[in-house]
Amino acid sequence: MVLVLDIVNMSQNIKIPVAAPKFLGNEIDYVTDCVKSTWISSQGEYVSRFEESFSKYCGVNHGVSTSSGTTALHLALATLDLKPDDEVIIPSFTMIATANSVSYTGAKPVLVDSEPKFWNIDVNKIEEKINKKTKVIMPVHTYGHPCDMDVIHKLAKDYGLYVIEDAAEAHGAEYKGKKTGSLSDIACFSFYANKIITTGEGGMLVTNNEELAKKSITLRAHSFSADMHFWHRHIGFGYRLSSLQAAVGLAQLENIEKFVNIRRNNAHLYSKLLGEIKGITLPPEAEWAKNVYWMYSILIEDNFGMDLDTFMSKLRDYGIDSRTFFYPIHIQPIYKDKYLNEIFPVANELSKKGINLPSGNNLEKKQIEYIVSCIKEIKTDNKK
Ligand SMILES: *Cc1c(COP(=O)(O)O)cnc(C)c1O
Repeated sequence: MVLVLDIVNMSQNIKIPVAAPKFLGNEIDYVTDCVKSTWISSQGEYVSRFEESFSKYCGVNHGVSTSSGTTALHLALATLDLKPDDEVIIPSFTMIATANSVSYTGAKPVLVDSEPKFWNIDVNKIEEKINKKTKVIMPVHTYGHPCDMDVIHKLAKDYGLYVIEDAAEAHGAEYKGKKTGSLSDIACFSFYANKIITTGEGGMLVTNNEELAKKSITLRAHSFSADMHFWHRHIGFGYRLSSLQAAVGLAQLENIEKFVNIRRNNAHLYSKLLGEIKGITLPPEAEWAKNVYWMYSILIEDNFGMDLDTFMSKLRDYGIDSRTFFYPIHIQPIYKDKYLNEIFPVANELSKKGINLPSGNNLEKKQIEYIVSCIKEIKTDNKK
């Protein structure tokens, strides 16, 4: 039980961020070892160790590390030889990088609305967007909750399409007992500082397809030719991860189960405490899913009695940071003109109602209790 006086004291002293990385293992030792070895580029041994360990963790044969989650997505699409005029199906409700990675190839992001229950791409609205230009379906495991992949795979099989998981938010999540990353042709992860494990900046593409893995490795680093090194037959990229970053990643990976458990336990505590408050919709978890709650996300409904901006600014007064949900792709200044004739009511609603509360690996039980007591107080004060 947190007293009002404690709240006042705490709000002066603390600032609870939405996310911050936690280093509790070998990060410093591995980075030091890497520096001492002088092998700090992508040629250093930590890169292959990190790639092998992470792909094994996902239950997949090949890991190809990249400079970010965005470059992993672009590399995956480039590896599939996407051409201008091709189409890639993605949800409208996602982070901008999902759409941009498609645009980099010249192909068109084709948008599908979300479904209201789990906030992921509405698998029942994908088929109507498939035509002969469609090459890839790229679902996003939003905020750590996996998509309903069986339906997506059935469509991909029927129409001869590739499936790329954008798993940037879902390390360790499971669909019907199988880890995200192992569910499709290719999956892409991000290791940005706010993700479930981090390398500061970084990403990885994982796949069971040896041919795609080999091709992506060549494209990742300028497409040097095997027979004549400085001879280039394809436009490749400078998308490598450094061994320094991989050293951090390998140490983070050693604690990934701990981090996933922290997130799940924190989410369960939040949901238990917030459950009593009227006007808040809690984050979902399907019976076939293991949600890793990359973000602890809630919807502020009309009967909460306060608009989102006011609520967020009051949280800030208590020293609590929060984030709005993504603005959907179809309303973004850089994309909106392409989707004027389509409607995405669920994406609009999620974007209007959703906020992410502090969710990082560092978040502690007493901070969650404090956050919830502040939310209760904000609500009570509002009634006066
Ligand atoms: C974070 C994120 C990315 C991009 O990852 P970066 O490492 O920041 O480039 C891509 N897709 C989704 C869904 C993300 O959340």
